[in-house]
Amino acid sequence: MNGSNQYSIKSTTFATSFIKTKLGIPEAFATKPKAILGSLFSFKMNHRAGFVSIIGSPNVGKSTLMNVLVGEKLSIITHKAQTTRHRIMGIFSGDDFQVVYSDTPGILKPHYLLHKAMLSAIYSSIADADVILLVTEIGEKFAHEEVLQNLRDNRKPVIVVINKIDLADQTRVEAAIENWKTRLEHADIIAISALHCFHTALVFDTILRHLPESPEYFPKEELTDRSQRFFISEIIREKILLNFSQEIPYSVEVVVNSFKEEEKLTRISVYLFVARESQKAIILGHQGKAVKKLGTESRKDIEAFLEKHIFLELNVKVRKNWRDDIKELKRFGYNVDENQ
Ligand code: GDP
Ligand code: MG
Repeated sequence: MNGSNQYSIKSTTFATSFIKTKLGIPEAFATKPKAILGSLFSFKMNHRAGFVSIIGSPNVGKSTLMNVLVGEKLSIITHKAQTTRHRIMGIFSGDDFQVVYSDTPGILKPHYLLHKAMLSAIYSSIADADVILLVTEIGEKFAHEEVLQNLRDNRKPVIVVINKIDLADQTRVEAAIENWKTRLEHADIIAISALHCFHTALVFDTILRHLPESPEYFPKEELTDRSQRFFISEIIREKILLNFSQEIPYSVEVVVNSFKEEEKLTRISVYLFVARESQKAIILGHQGKAVKKLGTESRKDIEAFLEKHIFLELNVKVRKNWRDDIKELKRFGYNVDENQ
């Protein structure tokens, strides 16, 4: 692998840029883009394109990083773990390149069938990718040796991104870099803060170096290959996460049932599937107040997203054991191997 570990933080640059970041000066964007633009456009390179899978444990900052890399709010960012259950694609194109990102579900122990489906989704996203971004956060004891072995066996370019270094001192950052060098020898290792856009430009530069020569996969004006329905359900899921606590957000599956564009407004009907009557009662709330608030907040964001007036209907339905029902999982778009 060329340039392995090239972007491990050197002590002096780290110290000054870290102070700038602390002061709120976006150091990475103040100086790095020029360097990167220079490296991109100072010579004529052949067109490069490929697929980048972002994998890692829940809550380490995968969505934050992808959104910085793509520059649009495409996936949900929240402090609650396990929000990304589907693969989300973001596409970032320039004249000479196209990077297609998927933000996979978090790596989780297979307790439920759903979680097994997640793990197999991660393996298939490694197999499908040209470059893998393994995101970890400073202080994380990454326990998924089976995933690391899968990465070694695949021999694909891997970039280990150590995120949230704004929360640690330099000694810990350097120790984490050293540790990852021994755990995944063929990887590039970059320590970043996705939240502060610190060294995120270096992540992009490294991705670009590893992309194969290829024509574009998607028409360049397209931002995403996901349908409007998908983003509508993502917006509603985000509002559920913000409005309800404990197990509720993970017990609800959001399905856009119908989507009718009329002259003056778009009518959208959505099913919220839950497993138990008690969960339905919580979502409805006293005199339906909770679901009404959920509907109002969702409608505002969906209207902003579609740039249209909408009529949003939320129906809460009880469907027992939807997590374990393979047919249902398939209907909801998961990739489930029936032999597992
Ligand atoms: P995901 O589950 O891996 O997709 O993680 P998210 O992108 O949703 O981020 C989880 C939480 O970590 C959010 O509260 C983010 O604001 C926060 N976060 C992400 N990157 C950073 C970072 O560089 N520094 C700090 N301090 N927090 C971060
Ligand atoms: Mg996420």
